[in-house]
Amino acid sequence: MNHSTKYVFVTGGVTSSLGKGIISASLAKLLQTRGFRVTIQKLDPYINVDPGTLNPYEHGECYVTDDGAETDLDLGHYERFLNVPTSQANNITTGRIYQSVINKERKGEYLGKTVQIIPHITDEIKRCIHILGSKSDFDFVITEIGGTVGDIESLPYIEAVRQMKWEKPNDVLVVHLTLIPYLSAAGELKTKPTQHSVKQLLEFGVQPDILVCRTEHELTPAVRTKVARFCNVAANAVIQSIDAETIYDVPILMLEEKFDEVVLEKLGIKSKKKPDLKKWINFLERYKNPNHTVRIGLVGKYVELKDSYKSIAEAFNHAGAANEVKVEIEWLHSENINERNVADYLKDLDGVLVAPGFGSRGIDGKIETIKFARENNIPFFGICLGMQCAVIEFARNVLNMPEAHSTEIKEYTPYPVISLMAEQKSITNLGGTMRLGSYPCKLKKESHAAKAYGQEMIEERHRHRFEFNNDYLAQYEAAGMVATGMNPESNLVEIVELKGHPWFVGAQFHPEYKSTVDKPHPLFVAFVKAAKKKAISKEAK
Ligand code: GLN
Repeated sequence: MNHSTKYVFVTGGVTSSLGKGIISASLAKLLQTRGFRVTIQKLDPYINVDPGTLNPYEHGECYVTDDGAETDLDLGHYERFLNVPTSQANNITTGRIYQSVINKERKGEYLGKTVQIIPHITDEIKRCIHILGSKSDFDFVITEIGGTVGDIESLPYIEAVRQMKWEKPNDVLVVHLTLIPYLSAAGELKTKPTQHSVKQLLEFGVQPDILVCRTEHELTPAVRTKVARFCNVAANAVIQSIDAETIYDVPILMLEEKFDEVVLEKLGIKSKKKPDLKKWINFLERYKNPNHTVRIGLVGKYVELKDSYKSIAEAFNHAGAANEVKVEIEWLHSENINERNVADYLKDLDGVLVAPGFGSRGIDGKIETIKFARENNIPFFGICLGMQCAVIEFARNVLNMPEAHSTEIKEYTPYPVISLMAEQKSITNLGGTMRLGSYPCKLKKESHAAKAYGQEMIEERHRHRFEFNNDYLAQYEAAGMVATGMNPESNLVEIVELKGHPWFVGAQFHPEYKSTVDKPHPLFVAFVKAAKKKAISKEAK
């Protein structure tokens, strides 16, 4: 039914961080479980072409799609909720919009016209929204507009929404997410900020159809009526979004508020099917009723900002539910760990994960962590740089190559056990130039990886420049570190494991990007299972 794709826009008012991504994903989930085909898109108002070159401290994790797009972390939520892959088309930035308009201008495609924000930038924005509607057969495209209404940066996006609403009045709906603060001194919920932010939208010509109100306290009927009256929305279109214990409760809360019903009613769609959230509720029950707790150290250099490791933390939530355990993450800063204190940090943990990353900061702490986990049989999971550090540690401490390193950190090491891929050597630009996106991998039978996946061929997503150096592979395997996953075409090492260790797995790819509520990632599930075994054996002692 692509001729009648419906477009739902989600804007934000009053403050940032109200959770537009989770609200968008929750609405999408409800519509999906009613049998509709739904996708979610994020429009980011910054000038970077993509978040790939952004420091995680700026914007949290960079999420990578199958097609190799480096995107905003909200796309991770979309995939975790919907279990449907996203692509480059699902994340557009102002930088990308301008880049494509300027490229067209240089090619003369505007036929000598003055190139302006309206119509050229807004047309390009609309093109990027329509791509998802017309090129695929989605029933709904939910488009989340980054930033807060009133920001200078987001004006062209709001203008594009205004135009689309005008052009397709029956197919476009605007949901505005706003805040109803509670003033404890007055003991009251306050609607004025919401009124103001709706006024601001109106100034730009956009009347929201539905208001989702973030609140710490239940909205009284009087507050709902007041919001409806002042903001020109129907009373049933004031949706309460109360603080939840977990983001995974939000679809259930939105169902109770009949958010999906109101959306369908406003768009004139009849749906015979009610949302079927059986699987989701089953996950929530497991997630909220763990039988054990496992403590896993997450060693990285951005741990002050937990959003830097968003997908990893969520993959642990999924894998914890699958194992009926609560995964408690100990956030450990790799720069603080050294030879003297490593035992203090790790001795009571049931597992350690060494995180992905770039550059030299914190590398020594990661290597010390891995040495301790290897020697003390602590379940270990290394991801990307974490896997590379495991390879370096093994060279230094087992293979007798004292200065072994990655050429990323030490270009002229005598033992370049991790080195640059040939095709990366001539590249000088930083944006979008890594080995990105999905690649196949063949697993070795009987390995931890093969047991976890239960299949021989897998596909996983990548984001890196450096690789295991195959010149050393024979030495590694002879000493007990084996390559249990290889790219069948290029022979690049994708997974290493340690023989004789309870669970020691390093992956060059990023499994965390593919973990969803419906499909917890097999490697995370197996890692948490190994940690659970350790936790239970400790309890027995
Ligand atoms: N810095 C390493 C590389 O580029 C690892 C990257 C990562 O951990 N994502 O190969």
